[in-house]
Amino acid sequence: MASNKNLLMLPGDGVGPEVMHEVKRLIDWMAKRRSVSFNISEDLVGGASIDARGTPITEATVEAAKAADAVLFGSVGGPQWDKLGFAMRPEISILTLRKELGLFANLRPAIVLDPLVDASTLKADVVRGLDIMIVRESTGGVYFGEPRGVETLPNGEQRGFNTETYSTHEIERVARVGFDLARKRQNRLCSVEKANVMESGLLWRQVVTALHARDYADVELSHMYADNCAMQLVRNPRQFDVIVTTNLFGDLLSDLASMLTGSLGMLPSATLGAADATGRRHALYEPIHGSAPDIAGKGIANPLAQILSFAMLLRYSFEMDEDATMIERACTAVLASGLRTADVMAAGCAKVGTQVMGEALIREMDKQAA
Ligand code: NAD
Repeated sequence: MASNKNLLMLPGDGVGPEVMHEVKRLIDWMAKRRSVSFNISEDLVGGASIDARGTPITEATVEAAKAADAVLFGSVGGPQWDKLGFAMRPEISILTLRKELGLFANLRPAIVLDPLVDASTLKADVVRGLDIMIVRESTGGVYFGEPRGVETLPNGEQRGFNTETYSTHEIERVARVGFDLARKRQNRLCSVEKANVMESGLLWRQVVTALHARDYADVELSHMYADNCAMQLVRNPRQFDVIVTTNLFGDLLSDLASMLTGSLGMLPSATLGAADATGRRHALYEPIHGSAPDIAGKGIANPLAQILSFAMLLRYSFEMDEDATMIERACTAVLASGLRTADVMAAGCAKVGTQVMGEALIREMDKQAA
């Protein structure tokens, strides 16, 4: 079947290939039952690439990622590569891809599926029905700002310093992603910074406000200081729809928000680049969990985060909303039927492995397509 959907799969290390296998099962099902096909290529990254090619990612793989319409990434890393120098670490592969593809907007949904409401450490009443999206700026801010370093002062003491910097275009482009997402959801965007104590935060607020007035007046915009946002996320997380924030605050707040759901093996993410004149943008999708070396090779990893990352890919790179929604509903249905991988196991449920979970998902897809 000819296809114009070019998809690069990079399963990586540890549980990465195991959970990616279940996405392949789903893709085969889509070809048969939905007549959807993809041009799929697959390549090595991370430790697998180090072992085979002596580098965490080759230039050819980076070029393949640039040529693809979307990249589905698994996870990289493991103790056997931990002793290598920083430039040879498996994690360099994902950092290289983010840089080379200009992926500046990291999308982290935090969704509490009804069957897993008790997995959260918060009360079920607080998180039931939660569905928020955090957009984290991911190529600027204090992690990349110059000057940075550690210097020795005249009195012999040492001083470490980093610089938070944001320019207008960096703020605008990530805010646009936030506004566009809000329009497809509940039409509410909360912009988060520390404009009360940081000049870069003040500029952030001014730029978002001006962009809102210029291009997005139909979206409900609010502003919040990052410390208050952390508190509000725990107090009443459902007040949020889309949150857009800086690299540093996004790092912290998205981890906090993901734990509202209580299950690492369930959480997808996307990282997007700028859209070109035709609307096409580089995009990489991956579960937020790592390579889970402690359970790799045992066939017990939860494949749902990888599968939900694929659903995000369908929605944001291929505008296949209907298929994405089907997959998301099938995930909820499988869990509601009482099947659980070990990481989300609950009393009264049946513990299953990666493959059985993947097969059960296909049966739910069958039911939905019937
Ligand atoms: P991790 O996410 O791999 O594992 C944390 C815990 O969650 C472990 O107990 C693991 O068994 C469990 N877990 C993770 N994914 C799971 C799944 N799908 N199903 C069931 N349980 C799951 O984090 P870590 O242990 O800190 O890191 C392990 C390796 O992964 C390190 O080398 C780290 O650098 C790497 N890492 C890679 C990425 C990435 O590829 N983007 C992200 C985070 C960590």
